[in-house]
Amino acid sequence: MDNIRRKTVKAILAEGQEGAGQLVDVKGWVRTRRGNKHVQFVALNDGSTINNLQIVFDLSKFTEDELKPITTGSSIHVQGELVASQGAGQSVEVQARELEVYGTAPGDYPLQKKGHTLEFLREKAHLRPRTNTFGAVLRIRHALAYAIHKFFNDKGFYYFHTPLITASDAEGAGAQFQVTTLPLEELPRTEDGKVDYSEDFFGKLACLTVSGQLEGELGATALGLIYTFGPTFRAENSNTPRHLSEFWMIEPEMAFYEIADNMDLAEEFIKYCINYALEHCADDIQFLNDHFDKELISRLKFVVENDFVRLPYTEGIEILEKSGKKFEFPVFWGVDLASEHERYLVEEHFKKPVILTDYPKEIKAFYMKLNDDGKTVRAMDVLFPKIGEIIGGSQREENYDKLKGRIEELGLSGMDWYLDTRKYGTVPHSGFGLGFERLVLFVTGMQNIRDVIPFPRYPKNCEY
Ligand code: ATP
Ligand code: MN
Repeated sequence: MDNIRRKTVKAILAEGQEGAGQLVDVKGWVRTRRGNKHVQFVALNDGSTINNLQIVFDLSKFTEDELKPITTGSSIHVQGELVASQGAGQSVEVQARELEVYGTAPGDYPLQKKGHTLEFLREKAHLRPRTNTFGAVLRIRHALAYAIHKFFNDKGFYYFHTPLITASDAEGAGAQFQVTTLPLEELPRTEDGKVDYSEDFFGKLACLTVSGQLEGELGATALGLIYTFGPTFRAENSNTPRHLSEFWMIEPEMAFYEIADNMDLAEEFIKYCINYALEHCADDIQFLNDHFDKELISRLKFVVENDFVRLPYTEGIEILEKSGKKFEFPVFWGVDLASEHERYLVEEHFKKPVILTDYPKEIKAFYMKLNDDGKTVRAMDVLFPKIGEIIGGSQREENYDKLKGRIEELGLSGMDWYLDTRKYGTVPHSGFGLGFERLVLFVTGMQNIRDVIPFPRYPKNCEY
């Protein structure tokens, strides 16, 4: 092999015919090999792009034996001349001069044929990143993560790290995974027979976080504008295509923002992310559009080009009641909307994303700001076509007495640290949580949230 600097497939294809004539060095995995006795064509992919680079092996230069190890899934290193391609489907190809085989892939390589079902690939999740589909999803996932950091950084937000292990149990008990080093077979007990957590690692009951919001508020009431972006864990037994047990959440929290500012930010933010993906992941989105969801691109464009509807919950209930539709779950004022209700408003009634506001206080978290009607809180859920809820947020209750009253009403304990934000220099503030995988789901057009994270965790599944 000559001493030539390696190029990625993406870089070579981007240069196109302008790069013709040069000697190139490429490395990657073989997607397919076809041809005849005179010439063999290999489609090479290195993960840098959805597109393959065609490598041409002339059998006057290579023997059949030399090419034998080149099967689907094998990994190779090639040097050759980049030439304009005569075939349809690519503008350039590599005329191979040198070949090195890194690794063969025996015939039991599971990703032989094209068009495996997503269910089959879920069983082979350790190899599925090598498929076109998951390559596309994972590159889009990366681009969205980058866009999120860029959006907030450019707006003067600080990335604030909230703990993953926490002793605060605020979002409502039951959905948390416990973290313990106690011997589960022989738990230490207190005199009244309860588990003695003073002997546990942290000296008290600790869990994985379900949300960084409460700690995020500590950041926002000091730094002004913060966001979190980290893993979140929920032990709810939700076997739905929109729930994971481990998912990533983005939670901006803003001092001096009222609910309308919060809605403006959420709308601008989500449009920015979608636009970023449309601009930077065009090939991958086009691939998913062609293979899975013919309306994907038009749906993405539609969302970024239209204003979101802003609608109070009470009016939403009226629309649902008047719709004449037979829903599986009943509709009445006070009900926690089911996904079918949310999707009716978005997909059938308004045909636009909807920000639903001012929910009954009973179905929302304790920290949301109470409206003057005494019945509703300044919540805002952003509802999307095909997804339902993608963002949940609110203006926070900044009044010390009202918040303390609500905490006592609900019997929550250990919240003094949180109340201190209202005791000392309290300010109006707001924030929201975006489930990262729900955004990736929307932008990729995938149907199941388990297909937009490399290693999904859900009830009875913890592979790898
Ligand atoms: P849902 O009603 O869909 O279960 P939620 O009301 O429990 O959502 P929040 O607690 O407001 O959701 O969390 C904020 C955001 O996190 C949601 O808008 C959603 O995008 C995302 N999210 C919530 N639970 C999950 C989950 N189990 N898996 C993936 N994303 C989730
Ligand atoms: Mn939930």
